[in-house]
Amino acid sequence: MNPAGKPGKSGSLMPVEVALARLLEMADASRIVDRERLSLAQVQGRVLADDLVSTLDLPPWPNSAMDGYALRLADWTGEPLVVSQKIFAGQAPDPLQPGTCARIFTGAPVPAGADCVEMQENAEVQADERVRFTETMTAGQNIRPQGQETTVGELILPAGTRLGPIEQGLAASLGRAELDVIRKVRVAVLSTGDELIEPGQPLGPGQIYNSNRVLLCSWLQRLGCEVIDAGILPDDLITTRARLGELKDVDLILSTGGVSVGEADFLGIALREEGELTLWKLAIKPGKPLTFGHFRGVPVIGLPGNPASTLVTFALLTRPYLLRRQGVKDVEPLTVQVQAGFDWPKAGNRREYLRGRLEHGRAIIYKNQSSGVLRSAAWADGLVEVLEDRTLVAGDSVYFIPLSEVLG
Ligand code: AMP
Ligand code: MG
Repeated sequence: MNPAGKPGKSGSLMPVEVALARLLEMADASRIVDRERLSLAQVQGRVLADDLVSTLDLPPWPNSAMDGYALRLADWTGEPLVVSQKIFAGQAPDPLQPGTCARIFTGAPVPAGADCVEMQENAEVQADERVRFTETMTAGQNIRPQGQETTVGELILPAGTRLGPIEQGLAASLGRAELDVIRKVRVAVLSTGDELIEPGQPLGPGQIYNSNRVLLCSWLQRLGCEVIDAGILPDDLITTRARLGELKDVDLILSTGGVSVGEADFLGIALREEGELTLWKLAIKPGKPLTFGHFRGVPVIGLPGNPASTLVTFALLTRPYLLRRQGVKDVEPLTVQVQAGFDWPKAGNRREYLRGRLEHGRAIIYKNQSSGVLRSAAWADGLVEVLEDRTLVAGDSVYFIPLSEVLG
């Protein structure tokens, strides 16, 4: 059976969420389980291979939340107390001598026998250096108890968590110098089209510069993938076949262009010959044609070539697929509901992802939403979702997907 399933009814378009669900199913079926052990500093953007379980209480001992004085509440009769020791962060204190207090600083261990810390602002040092407390105190105040944040054996981060600065900091707080992460997904990037040349060369007749290649390679790196830059593929079957065959040891072949059922769809022909291919017509704009298939067992995703289409289909479909291949559970971007700052008088049969910005809490859109216009996305800071068969007037509610949610 074709693992990609059947495309929607002929003539009908596949809703974005159906395409995403299918891609994620396929990603689950080819989950990468190989792992590597990395130092904590190197795990940024990678995916945790095992549950991170605490082997420590945090804090490991009760400590002071303030600069002040530690005392046993029962010793406080209203008479000033002698200061019997000074405890800085990093020191191991002696037990508190009964009837005295200890000078203590933020983060320092509370000495055994003390049950309260009073902040220095509420303490008066007498001429004889004894300390009088001016406010009512309660047991436990200003003490961060042992295990307040975490206790031994607690699940801190589940396997499948994407690691960033916060997770790195958390692992460090538990004393972890290394973590096991899923190995990088190896993605080969192919740009198809006879019209493409690389920037830096003079532009000949009929040619355009290849913008998708660097866009995707750079984006994939941000996602923690290993990028195999397979360059430009001419619109030619023999070369297509040969170049695909050269791509050894990759987890995904990601191509752009040549998927619009055009005559120059050589990628599609090569996939049909040596694997399988499903051409999806998605209810998405920009976007619509998207190829999913296999070439000699290697998954292939073919994105439409227009740069804004490449961007939108990568952000909404390929990115979640790649994260799921590494075992990430929540792969969809956070979206926020905002008011439309524009009218949308004509309903479309595809879900539109307009390149837009938030201004005073309302989404406004770039003046030219053509799928060839990458500049729209550079101007934008998010995608404004307009559902199928929907019209809008300014003030209506729309979903906004910040680009920052999908770019990393
Ligand atoms: P295609 O899907 O091959 O028919 O391409 C659709 C449109 O996207 C055409 O106008 C192509 O010239 C353009 N295009 C395809 N690939 C790229 C690319 N790598 N960089 C910039 N534009 C592209
Ligand atoms: Mg083309």
